[in-house]
Amino acid sequence: MDKVNEQLKQAIGSEKVFDQEPMKKHTTFRIGGPADLFVVPETIEDIKTTCQIAKEHNIPLFVLGNGSNLLVGDHGIEGIVLQIYKNLSQISVEGDQIHVQAGALLSSVSKTALKEELTGFEFAGGIPGTFGGAVVMNAGAYGGEMVQVLKEVTVLTQEGEVETIKASELELGYRTSNVLQNGYVVLSGVIELKKGKKEEIKAQMDEYALARKTKQPLEFPSAGSTFKRPEGYFAGKLIQDAGLRGYQVGGARVSDKHCGFVVNQENATAADVMQLIEDVQNKVKEQFGVLLEPEVKRIGRF
Ligand SMILES: Cc1cc2nc3c(=O)[nH]c(=O)nc-3n(C[C@H](O)[C@H](O)[C@H](O)COP(=O)(O)OP(=O)(O)OC[C@H]3O[C@@H](n4cnc5c(N)ncnc54)[C@H](O)[C@@H]3O)c2cc1C
Repeated sequence: MDKVNEQLKQAIGSEKVFDQEPMKKHTTFRIGGPADLFVVPETIEDIKTTCQIAKEHNIPLFVLGNGSNLLVGDHGIEGIVLQIYKNLSQISVEGDQIHVQAGALLSSVSKTALKEELTGFEFAGGIPGTFGGAVVMNAGAYGGEMVQVLKEVTVLTQEGEVETIKASELELGYRTSNVLQNGYVVLSGVIELKKGKKEEIKAQMDEYALARKTKQPLEFPSAGSTFKRPEGYFAGKLIQDAGLRGYQVGGARVSDKHCGFVVNQENATAADVMQLIEDVQNKVKEQFGVLLEPEVKRIGRF
């Protein structure tokens, strides 16, 4: 790892490479041990170089956005974590289309849409992820989903090529896509919206923001909905009906406000969250015969 560290620092600049960086600083759960190497690229070239070096040395590479859908293990992440975030977050508008770099936050994209009086992206304003993470997850809320607005994405392929791919080729489904399977790094993309009225767009965004504030435990660190919505049910309702509101393992707790959220109540470890997820799954399965599937991605060494 020392050799890779040296090579990376020389190739892209030592100020962009961090050793043993605590992942709890980069996840909304505020949980996670250190990444062996944490890289903060400033250009597409930096991304390309980092991927190439990882490949050359056969070292695992994990692409991180805002870490808002992740549970990182207490013993950290082996290899390189490549964070595509603030340095690569340009947004520009061309007619009804918005061109977005992967590191831009969805909240910034929706503010741009509002400013330009473009409708169709109101649903995403309160999702705390980056554009890249939202493409991977086909993020959605309040009846909207990335698949409805995404036109194309530009990715770095495993072969080191930059390619533009139509959204229809990404197999965007309920909180999934084929981006990771294909080994793509999302660099940017284009969403296509419609002309709308500023007051109406603003009113819709305000309504969704208020709904989140009222219903979701935004006052505690979390990774959003812990489980996917099982067909025909709501995860939160099942958990509530199983009597698990406020159920706690160590510092991790089923939110009192919304049972679909596991929150980091008090210095929770990843092990606490894992145990709590397992307990919830077992109890819900026992009582209702439904297996809850985690939406939160588990990464690293547990
Ligand atoms: C309070 C709260 C509310 C939430 N509400 C919602 C909601 O309403 N709807 C919803 O869908 N989600 C919601 N989420 C979950 C989360 O915000 C989304 O899944 C979001 O899309 C994740 O984006 P991210 O940048 O944080 O990705 P990360 O969590 O950093 O990563 C998620 C996955 O995407 C991959 N990835 C990230 N960037 C790239 C890239 N550039 N190229 C390739 N792969 C990449 C990662 O490797 C990882 O596999 C919520 C989370 C929180 C904390």
